[in-house]
Amino acid sequence: MELKNLIDGKPVAPSSGRYTEKFNPATGEKLADVPLSDASDVDRAVETARRAFKSWRLTPAPKRGEILYRVGRILEERKDAIARLMTQEMGKVLTEARGDVQEAIDMAYYMGGEGRRSFGYTTPSELPDKFAFAMRDPIGVAAIITPWNFPAAIPSWKMFPALVLGNTVVFKPASDTPLVAGEMVKILHEAGVPGGVVNLVYGSGGVVGDALLGHPDVKLVSFTGSVETGRHVAEKAGHGLKRVSLELGGKNAVLVMDDANLDLAVEGILWSAFGTTGQRCTACSRLIVQRGIYPKLEARLTERIQKLRLGDGLLESTDVGPLIHRQARERVHSYVEIGRQEGARLVVGGSPDDSGELSRGAFYAPTLFADVKRTMRIAREEIFGPVLSMIPVDTLEEAIEVNNEVAYGLSSSIFTQDVQNTFRAIRDLASGIVYINAGTTGAEIHLPFGGTRDTGNGHREAGTAAIDFFSEWKSVYVDFSGKLQRAQIDD
Ligand code: NAP
Repeated sequence: MELKNLIDGKPVAPSSGRYTEKFNPATGEKLADVPLSDASDVDRAVETARRAFKSWRLTPAPKRGEILYRVGRILEERKDAIARLMTQEMGKVLTEARGDVQEAIDMAYYMGGEGRRSFGYTTPSELPDKFAFAMRDPIGVAAIITPWNFPAAIPSWKMFPALVLGNTVVFKPASDTPLVAGEMVKILHEAGVPGGVVNLVYGSGGVVGDALLGHPDVKLVSFTGSVETGRHVAEKAGHGLKRVSLELGGKNAVLVMDDANLDLAVEGILWSAFGTTGQRCTACSRLIVQRGIYPKLEARLTERIQKLRLGDGLLESTDVGPLIHRQARERVHSYVEIGRQEGARLVVGGSPDDSGELSRGAFYAPTLFADVKRTMRIAREEIFGPVLSMIPVDTLEEAIEVNNEVAYGLSSSIFTQDVQNTFRAIRDLASGIVYINAGTTGAEIHLPFGGTRDTGNGHREAGTAAIDFFSEWKSVYVDFSGKLQRAQIDD
């Protein structure tokens, strides 16, 4: 199958005439040829989006919202088919892929509703016979640059609020997930988004992404990906004074206190650490455990991790799918080697798994390290794979300190049954998301999503926070006094 860019509502071949191949990370099977577009394709897409903005911004917001409701309905009808495609292209198990599509469905309905809200406000004027209000304006062409780990959810977090507020979009998906990206844009068109309002340009980050960041007609950039790329995005887009939202990496921790419900903690930890093969931005990769419960937790986790079944995510029997590709597997393994050299105790896993059918893919044995010191690299750097590190602590205060001392601040969780521990943790965990008695994953789309410190640049996605990012304020003063009234000037 040869994919095409979608510009002005039409499939378009890349002007370079070049393509790259996309493979299934579980089976090695070839899935598609994907365009390697260049700056001239970006120019064309941005120009189309710029022109489309003129009419889209004037389309009544409730009408824009109705289109998103239709998007939600189509996604519901095709949920299973899109989920299967997702599992094939990036490996997560089918139940999780369905959850990824469900997030896009939820976002379509939530943002559809914003068509009839997008609230501004009125406020009294300091002068007589004068009326003051603040309203939201769309901004213009939005560049949407996404990673591969949530191929439906993350583009929906960005494109749906952008569109309902009247912006137009040029979407550059991750090179590793071109197929679901194509489906998402086709569905937007099917639901009634006019040609030109959403444009899809495939290609590498260094070429297509970079061209978007430098394009003068791109007015806002919504980016999710690694810290390294995020810094580049901030610098380049910042030079053009674009509005930039960055959602970056994580080094998320679950804190387990001595009084925790152990059964619940084990379930929450397994789901957070090994779901999506540890490749969620909110994946738990550190366990900060009070010493009293440490031996029991280690034993219970070891037993359960050994039973996790690796395989193709399409199979019901699979618990953990492959990594996104073999390069990622090498990177994960290099961290395991670093952990060993640093003196952490490898409890289970710790190697690629090429047994039988798995030899066709990028599988890695779910891994647990114990006796990890807070200063070790495996305790501080994002690994983005199925590797979990147990760090012993004495007190809640120490646990919170360990949680907060890494560069990232996305998601933290605590298992405790003590109300004082709970509220101290809520107050003191320096993360954008905090869970009590649940793992580090499972964000709902109507709450702000994002993190502190190097996890981003202070913006949040989802909920009303997304409305703020994708619109700008216009303050309006209507003077009906019939004379010149001067604010702040003594008469
Ligand atoms: P990545 O390598 O930074 O890539 C993200 C996107 O940026 C891709 O579309 C990539 O294109 C593009 N890109 C690469 N170089 C670029 C450049 N010079 N200019 C503009 N765009 C460029 O990240 P990833 O490996 O796909 O994703 C994993 C990372 O994302 C992890 O660190 C994870 O924690 C983070 N993440 C964060 C969140 C959050 O909400 N905080 C959510 C999910 C993931 P190509 O694919 O063509 O390289």
